[in-house]
Amino acid sequence: MTRIVLAILCLSLLYFAFRTIVFLRRFSELDGFVDELVKGGLSRRLYLKGKRGFSRIMYNLSVLAANLEEKELENQGLKDRLSVLLRNIPDGIALIDSKDRIKTVNPAFEGILFLKAANLAGKGLAESVNVMGLGSLINSARQGNAQVKETFSFNSKFIEITATPFSSAGRKQYAGQVVVFRDVTADRRIDEIRKDFVANVSHELKTPVTAIRGYVDTLLDGAMEDRQDLSRFLNVIGFQAGRMEQLIKDLIELSKIEFGAMAIEKKPVNLQEVVGRAVSLFEEKAAAKGIYLKKDISEECSIEADPGMLAQILTNLLDNAVKYTDTGGVVIRVRETDDWRCTLSVQDTGIGVPKKYIPRLGERFFRVDPSRSRELGGTGLGLAIVKHLVLAQGWKMHIDSDFGKGTTVRIYIN
Ligand code: ADP
Repeated sequence: MTRIVLAILCLSLLYFAFRTIVFLRRFSELDGFVDELVKGGLSRRLYLKGKRGFSRIMYNLSVLAANLEEKELENQGLKDRLSVLLRNIPDGIALIDSKDRIKTVNPAFEGILFLKAANLAGKGLAESVNVMGLGSLINSARQGNAQVKETFSFNSKFIEITATPFSSAGRKQYAGQVVVFRDVTADRRIDEIRKDFVANVSHELKTPVTAIRGYVDTLLDGAMEDRQDLSRFLNVIGFQAGRMEQLIKDLIELSKIEFGAMAIEKKPVNLQEVVGRAVSLFEEKAAAKGIYLKKDISEECSIEADPGMLAQILTNLLDNAVKYTDTGGVVIRVRETDDWRCTLSVQDTGIGVPKKYIPRLGERFFRVDPSRSRELGGTGLGLAIVKHLVLAQGWKMHIDSDFGKGTTVRIYIN
């Protein structure tokens, strides 16, 4: 009997010892697992041996780890997408908290405002960015709890700043603002150019219209009775009408090129022929002024060009060269060059252009001497048209000029 009791006791002890070892092993496994969870290691899973008691706790912890890992991956994906957005948005963006302190900025912000993100964290936005009026813009967005937008000038640029207040998620309490900085300098310049252009066109048209009106009134008032006055005034009216006609033609030409409405059809051209035709248009005028007009075309050069555009370029350049030359003359050359296929140049020994004005040649309506240009029938658009036609064909233009000595316009044809 005692033996049986002893045997049962021994077996029980052995069983408990075995259970304790299993328990301790699983406990240590669980301990290690929880430890890893706390440190953020979410990829480990526990090996399950049942679905009750300890195993159930381990199973639930494994599910918890799997859920957390999934959430973590989702958050990471969200963060990555947000960071890609912030890095690639061309506008500068600053996020500020309820005390106007900078929380984060994107790379475009650094570029537009010449600031380093590393030096900004926690600083006040208005104090860090040297834009007068930014502080009051942020204040009015906060006080009105609405988006506020204004354009400021900063370092010779125009920056449009938009401040948008936001509340913390779930609560209605003001939590900060997203402030967006957009460089609108180019848009402003386009606006200015457009305004200048309209003013220039109106001015250019007003002068001949006023002159025509004046002469017509004088004729109607009785001057037409005198044959000499009649023919003189009609000539002036004809000249002014011609100016308007040329201006309108040039404007149409320019707008066709600028709006890309002109189809470019490049094909091999016979330079001797095209240049010869353009030169013949000005031979009479040159002879009347007593100046020479020569051409020197290399036989080696073969180019592709849009024939209409090339003819217009040559006409405008020769017109200027003959118009602004009173002694000496004009030579038009075509030569082979190493890096470009050919160079076409129109060289004159005329009045030239002061150095400071050379960069402005090719601007619409820019003239060194506006009244002289008008007297000679110029519209101030000839070189602008040439510049556009040259660019449209993928060529380059360069102007050299010595005031009082002459001008050379070179076109590099590829
Ligand atoms: P315009 O109708 O006034 O000639 P352009 O656009 O052809 O207009 O030229 C602009 C200005 O550039 C001219 O008014 C003139 O002052 C200057 N210019 C152009 N070509 C020459 C040249 N060959 N010699 C001297 N000045 C020139």
